[in-house]
Amino acid sequence: MIARVAGQLFRRAGDRDFDDEAWSAVTVKILLVEDNKFDAQIVTRVLQDPVRVPCDLTHVKTLDSALDRLSAESWDVVVVDLSLPDASGPNAVKTISLNYDEIPIVVLSGNSDDEFATEMIRTGAQDFIVKDVRSDMSLPRVINFAVERKANEVRLRHLASYDPLTRLANRQEYCAQLEKACARADRNDTMVALVILDLDGFKAVNDLHGHQAGDALLCGVSRKLRRSIRAGDTAARLGGDEFAIILEGVHDAADVTAWASNIARDLRDSSDIDGEPQTVTASIGAALYPANGRTVDELMRCADVAMYDVKNHGRANFAFFEKDMDRCRLRRTQLKKALAPGIRNGEIKVEYQPKISLLDGSLIGLEALARWDRPGHGVIQPLEFLPIARRCGLINDIGRAVLAKVIDSQSQALADKKNTVPVSVNADAREIARASFAKEVIDALTTSQVPMHLLCIEITETTLLEPTETCLNNLRQLSEAGIQIELDDFGAGHSTLNYLRQFPLNTLKLDRSLVTDLACDAQSRLIVKTMIGLGRKLGMSIVAEGVEEQAQFAALAQIGCDAAQGFLIARAMPWQDIVDWQARGADRLTSLTSRDMTPTYRQSVPCG
Ligand code: C2E
Ligand code: CA
Ligand code: CA
Repeated sequence: MIARVAGQLFRRAGDRDFDDEAWSAVTVKILLVEDNKFDAQIVTRVLQDPVRVPCDLTHVKTLDSALDRLSAESWDVVVVDLSLPDASGPNAVKTISLNYDEIPIVVLSGNSDDEFATEMIRTGAQDFIVKDVRSDMSLPRVINFAVERKANEVRLRHLASYDPLTRLANRQEYCAQLEKACARADRNDTMVALVILDLDGFKAVNDLHGHQAGDALLCGVSRKLRRSIRAGDTAARLGGDEFAIILEGVHDAADVTAWASNIARDLRDSSDIDGEPQTVTASIGAALYPANGRTVDELMRCADVAMYDVKNHGRANFAFFEKDMDRCRLRRTQLKKALAPGIRNGEIKVEYQPKISLLDGSLIGLEALARWDRPGHGVIQPLEFLPIARRCGLINDIGRAVLAKVIDSQSQALADKKNTVPVSVNADAREIARASFAKEVIDALTTSQVPMHLLCIEITETTLLEPTETCLNNLRQLSEAGIQIELDDFGAGHSTLNYLRQFPLNTLKLDRSLVTDLACDAQSRLIVKTMIGLGRKLGMSIVAEGVEEQAQFAALAQIGCDAAQGFLIARAMPWQDIVDWQARGADRLTSLTSRDMTPTYRQSVPCG
């Protein structure tokens, strides 16, 4: 029985899918390599007695023909004589075990020397039987043991090479397979594609549904990956929710693109978490050997860079490695290194962009926008450094630095008895999720004696999508203290209409995308008008952002928007310039309604 089960294991050990149910009983397939006719007859007779070992025996006379048979089909055990016409002693064992290291070898020899036996085992044999003492009993037993020992060896090797949760190759096995795949590609003049696949939003699944659901999702994804590849390709789990796929015999990049779009579709379809259908997406990056990297390390790096590029550009996509990605990655790495010391050295500066009333053109507020003024490198825009800060856990430090600067400016204005208007500070979702956030903000204002109504916190719709108790508490505390709350980027993507009532919001800020088509498109005008009506009914004021053209300004005024912000009015500028801008403000409205301004500045998309 052991031989049956173990024997079956060998045929499956090379396969990636290693299912218990497939271990059904079969006969042991034995290849006997023996040139002596008489010896071969004895072995055949002993082994073919079905009561002892149910076996299927094939007899060949030379090492050469044994190697032919070994390469042509799978075997459970090789019984080999040590004096073959074309191979002497240990050479036969060595050759077979080097090429077919998952097949147990039993040596038949006329030599009963212990040392010789040990040497055979070291060379790769599982057991050794001396011809003179072989009997009807001992040969089947030796074969049984050999098969069992090899099975254990393979099982241990499997444990060491495969991820226990998903049964995909682990990182170590993946590296070994990639080396081999590249070597084969060199020999056959083909290409290897290395694909790195990282699930999007996996952490949220773990956090919201628990680790069991997370594990089930990983197993489901692994099954789909395994099904998507051909025999000989490798799917591996590199850790967490990151997978690697080695595709061999690739003829052109389109093969890989087709594979990636199939797996992306497969993942999107029919994944369910906790019994509920869920859309699973992944960021997929690929690199080709030898085009993108001459070494395995280089290839891995390129596939990684491609995957991260997808992550940085909105996820749920596929990209091949490109040289340009390297440049962006290098810059990101440099910024990442410099950011923490930069924050400590006070390099985070704040610029202020005015918001004006659409009724009379008066200044009604300022929005504080962070800039990173890196000595020797110029000013870096928030769209470039904020994603890095989020990834490195520095977003809270930036928020604190901006708030401190804003409060300083407000205290200064109050001390100088200048006209003060509320300043809006953008708060990241991670800040609102911090239990002490509201208290820190309120304390800072109290300490510096800046009235609460002079601060406004801008939050984005994403903050409200899955509001936690902590987030709600923070908003309530801020609001009760008298701090204004503004919903930023309203109408940009998610529909949060249902949420609007639940949160203590004072202002809706219409997203720039809504403002863009306002002047020329009646439908956009209708949408904006409806949103304004909705906000009004809920007791909120409405600010439009990104106003660049006079026609937009006029349209907003006409449909009853309260305030506007944008390049048409002013760009963000340092505090001192705001003071000057305010001083020159008497005829702002006249100039706004008579000028025909075309935008002079477009936001460039940074490396991300
Ligand atoms: P936001 O909150 O939507 O800020 C408005 C962005 O639009 C600013 O970009 C502003 O300079 C730009 N803008 C203003 N008027 C116009 C216009 O007429 N046309 C165009 N095309 N753009 C206009 P900025 O300063 O690059 O900030 C980008 C984003 O970075 C902000 O978007 C905000 O989400 C974030 N951010 C900026 N400072 C902070 C901060 O201190 N903390 C946090 N958490 N986020 C910040
Ligand atoms: Ca904002
Ligand atoms: Ca905005």
